[in-house]
Amino acid sequence: MQTVTFAHLWVDGAWQTDVAVDIDGGRVLALRSGRAPARGAAPRGAPAGDAMAGSATAGDMRSGYVHGLTLPGLADAHCHAFQRLLPAWTQRARASREQGVLHEDFWTWREAMYVAAANLGPQELEAVAARCYLELLRGGYTAVAEFLYLHRLPQGTAPERRRGLAAGGARAAQLNADVAIVSAARRAGIRLMLLPALYQHADFGGAPVTAGQAPFERSVQQFLQDWEELKRRYPGDDADRGVGAATNAGDTDVDAGDVDAGDVDAGDANGAVTLGVAFHSLRAVDVSTVAEVAKQLATDQSCRAVHIHVAEQPAEVIASIAHHGRRPVALLAERDLLGPRWALVHGIHTTAAELKQVALSGATLVACPSTEADLGDGYVDLAHYLASGGQLAIGSDSNIGRSAYAELRMLEWGLRQRQGRRNVLTSAAEPAVADRLLRAVRAGGWRAFGQPQAGAPGASADFVTFDADEGDWPLVPPENYLSALVFDAAAPQARDVMVAGHWAIRRGVHVQQAQIERRYRAALMRLQPTLRQALARHEGK
Ligand SMILES: [Zn+2]
Repeated sequence: MQTVTFAHLWVDGAWQTDVAVDIDGGRVLALRSGRAPARGAAPRGAPAGDAMAGSATAGDMRSGYVHGLTLPGLADAHCHAFQRLLPAWTQRARASREQGVLHEDFWTWREAMYVAAANLGPQELEAVAARCYLELLRGGYTAVAEFLYLHRLPQGTAPERRRGLAAGGARAAQLNADVAIVSAARRAGIRLMLLPALYQHADFGGAPVTAGQAPFERSVQQFLQDWEELKRRYPGDDADRGVGAATNAGDTDVDAGDVDAGDVDAGDANGAVTLGVAFHSLRAVDVSTVAEVAKQLATDQSCRAVHIHVAEQPAEVIASIAHHGRRPVALLAERDLLGPRWALVHGIHTTAAELKQVALSGATLVACPSTEADLGDGYVDLAHYLASGGQLAIGSDSNIGRSAYAELRMLEWGLRQRQGRRNVLTSAAEPAVADRLLRAVRAGGWRAFGQPQAGAPGASADFVTFDADEGDWPLVPPENYLSALVFDAAAPQARDVMVAGHWAIRRGVHVQQAQIERRYRAALMRLQPTLRQALARHEGK
């Protein structure tokens, strides 16, 4: 057993000082001796106004005393790690419409995303995902739900594939995308929920997949076979055991050339991977198939949650009405496909009645504010959704944003812009936006993982600590600590990150940081010529 004492720990919505946390087997045994900070008092051990009050000393590190502002780890409920490479490539207009007026939207961005997906090999995916996951840890997440529609990637590196020299030719290896993702999560030391995604059609009505979507396609039979294989590889009998071991011990240094099934044998004593399933969307999977597969997995203990993209764009709603006479969320509700196991990603173009159905069902709505802003998706009326008891989580999605706390600010700011009001996502009982949102997305995020909220007794010992310079929080009274972190820091970066009782990042240092960075840069340099050539073909169309 170990005991770590946090100078300032958020416990059930309130700040307590000097909280001793007993940890055993990766779980929190007990939180002891915390006391509420005096109103307006400076952080303990520091004169009032000392901006360094939240900084650690070497002595504190050795004694297990952690200065700074500590929060329970959050769950990133929606991530496509490979899209981490896209932000810099997708800010130039590539499509044109009448009289040379350029028109870019979600659908043109999607074409660029297909180009990236088609040109990734397992080594590139692993390198990009490891870097992404490391950034997510620094951003305040200790778990990531990887919504994975890639499954069989062409072997070899990008230059090898270009020259036709890839080992084994272009033959795609079995579930090597899943292998790469698990390897990346272990390298970073983040908890992973792997969500293999069923993808069958280009649109409602069973339209065949396009060339860009071909790598995602799977039959139901293949999907269920793959599911059984993933269950065999990742039994997940103990969700907390072994997370973070890779970063501390440095003993699971998977070489870039070795990303294959051998790295993730079921005998690996790492239970940090849990499983759920995803249906890409009602565009990509007919609702009857969704119902059939969901029914088959309803009693499968390995399946912790069911995720689906829904109502991200108006065109999807229009197509759903045309084919089914129902909007997407209403269609799911009608087929009895909402419930506590379900996580609905985006849900932007929804009516008040649909949102009420989601709230009543106990399903979780997953907002992805920075991605939704980047893609021009829109905003959902979360004020009424939260007021009606709706469950809310956040996701990094395309990973253009990697800070959980910046996502909370984005969520609120988007609604302010739209509604011409301030402090929109508040209630009489919870008047502080940051505090209310943190409580909500902590609960909703872990619900979307089918796991108890980390940082509480009996649950995983996941904590993130921010230093004194993240939002000047030591200079304000405790009731404003979170407001400072969310609204007064650009993209708060954690100094210390604990996942299941292991320090994934300590004093800003992640033991595999240099290696992760080197591999990421190498992968992007290898991909650059291919992406440049492929994306240039889309420009000016
Ligand atoms: Zn997504």
